[in-house]
Amino acid sequence: MDSCCQNHFQKSATFVRCPVCHQKGKSVQIITIKALLHPQALETIDPESNYAFCSNSFCEVVYFNGVQFYGKDSLKVLVYQKDDALDVPVCYCFGWTRKRLIQAIRSSQNPVEFIREHVLANRCGCEVNNPQGSCCLGNVTKFIQSIDKGSSG
Ligand SMILES: [Zn+2]
Repeated sequence: MDSCCQNHFQKSATFVRCPVCHQKGKSVQIITIKALLHPQALETIDPESNYAFCSNSFCEVVYFNGVQFYGKDSLKVLVYQKDDALDVPVCYCFGWTRKRLIQAIRSSQNPVEFIREHVLANRCGCEVNNPQGSCCLGNVTKFIQSIDKGSSG
């Protein structure tokens, strides 16, 4: 009876909330989880279930479904949304860390154009590189806007 109820919960939920912070998660493909979890965590996943990504920077949880959750220590990479260090990638596919973005902006380059060019050429692999499992361009744009605000004063 328990497994029946769990299956019903997972299939009927169009979104699920993070078990720790209760913020709405974004669903991620199972390939993202398979690519980025440490082996020990990977050994415990349920490939049939739907996992979601918690983007709340104040929450330790990265992936969750209705039954399990995985914190940032379960991943092989630093998670942009969960770690504000300068060496954390914003664009995982093409290696744009916060530090590299700041340096590019200060030397009047446009990293967004550079990244977009590669995305349009279908060179990106966000689903296996980026913990959020989707394109980084929104994060890059927001981060650059935050640098502009920070440095103009
Ligand atoms: Zn959370």
